[in-house]
Formats: sequence, C-alpha cells, structure tokens
Amino acid sequence: MSQRHKLVVGNWKMHGSHAANAELLQGILASRPFAAEAAVCVPFPYLSEVAVTLANSGLAWGAQDCSVHEQGAYTGEVSSVMLAEFGCRYVIVGHSERRAYHGESDQLVADKAKVALARGITPIVCVGETLAQREAGETAAVVKRQLSAVVHALGQCIGEVVVAYEPVWAIGTGRTASPEQAQEVHALLRAQLAAATPRASEMKLLYGGSVKPDNAVTLFGQADIDGGLIGGAALKASDFVAILRAA
Ligand code: PGA
Repeated sequence: MSQRHKLVVGNWKMHGSHAANAELLQGILASRPFAAEAAVCVPFPYLSEVAVTLANSGLAWGAQDCSVHEQGAYTGEVSSVMLAEFGCRYVIVGHSERRAYHGESDQLVADKAKVALARGITPIVCVGETLAQREAGETAAVVKRQLSAVVHALGQCIGEVVVAYEPVWAIGTGRTASPEQAQEVHALLRAQLAAATPRASEMKLLYGGSVKPDNAVTLFGQADIDGGLIGGAALKASDFVAILRAA
C-alpha cells in the first residue's frame, strides 16, 4: 500500500442549482473530518458561491475545464486566470466528454494543463479508452498517447499534475473497471510517468468511472490507485461521504 495521501474529487458535470448545491455541500461538510483530501469541481457559474461556502472548510474546489488562452476574443471561454481569482485548486482537463463532444485533441488538453499550472492550479488530466479501443486491445497505446502529449508539454512540471484514468465505457454506465483492470492501467501510467520525472512515485493517479460506495474500498486499495474522480455519486452527500471514507 502506498504512502500517498488519497484524493477524492467530485465532478458535478452540468448539474446543480443554488438550492441543490447548498444542500449537497452542507451534507458533506457536516460529515467532516475526512482522512482523504476532498475537492469538488463545479460548473463555472457556481464557483463564486462554492468558494464562499468552502472557504477554510478543508474541502477544495475547482472547475471542469479552462481555456488555453488567458484573455481575449474567445466567446464562451473561461481562463485559468479567472479560475485562479476564484480560488480554484483544481481544474479537470481532457475529460472524455470534452474530448468526445468538443473535439478536444491530446495537444489541446496538454496545452490546457500547461496554462492551468502556470496559474498555480493543479490540472486533473483525464485519460481513458473507449470500449471499442479496449476490445481491440488498444488500451495501453491510447492512454500512453494521451499522457505523452501532456508529458511533452510540461517537461519536469509533469510531476505537479494529477492524472485520472477514466475508461470511457465505465463513465456513467454503472459498469466499473475491475480493481485489477484499473490497477493494470494505473501501473502502466505510473511507469510512463517514472520515465519522465523522479516524482512519479509521489504523484496521485485517480480512477474514475462508476465509483460507488460499494466498490470504492477495493478500487482505492490497489497499489497505484490514489483516489477517485467521482461523477454521479458525487451528487448525493451520503454517497460522496461514503466514498471519501473508503479512501
Ligand atoms: P461517473 O463519472 O462516476 O458518473 O461514472 C465519472 C466522471 O466522468 O468523471
């Protein structure tokens, strides 16, 4: 078992309302303290209220995407400079939903990670294969290619990112990678990172994809799994807290 401190991040995706957020956060905060580090990545409009609610709470917050640009004529975009103003500690980059629905390339994802880091925000870089790629035996090659773009863009700073392995076929489907399947990919990712930085053994590698209270313990018990990126189960305080307790 590794000595790395566990991290559990809620990815709210495009969910929430003033009322629902307040209830969810109060439910989580009421269950403190947690042994693991916890964060929530929320839709942009809610960053302001989340920053107020979570200030000095021990829970960190972040966003789900950022622009590669710092400012300018980029309608609809939000920059890492702005995220830093709202106290974001994390930003998710390269989530498979952004790769699939917004055509984000490996290079764009790597560039986003770079601008976030430059503003002191830790990027949570998502990688993962589709079901077709897994069935074609391409899992290792796909995640390696996705991670290698970030390694090249960041150089030695790669040691400062969090990597999330999220098999696309396990996201929101209720179909989780088995702990062994997840560990196998995490070990590959850590080996790839070790070739790039002496800090690989300290880096957090999260698993994401239908993590629930009942599978979190075995997933988080794997040697190279340092916590989770949680979607659906992060929207219910009792589930998110149970996952945090499993970490
Ligand atoms: P899920 O989503 O937990 O609902 O599968 C995880 C994610 O997409 O980050």
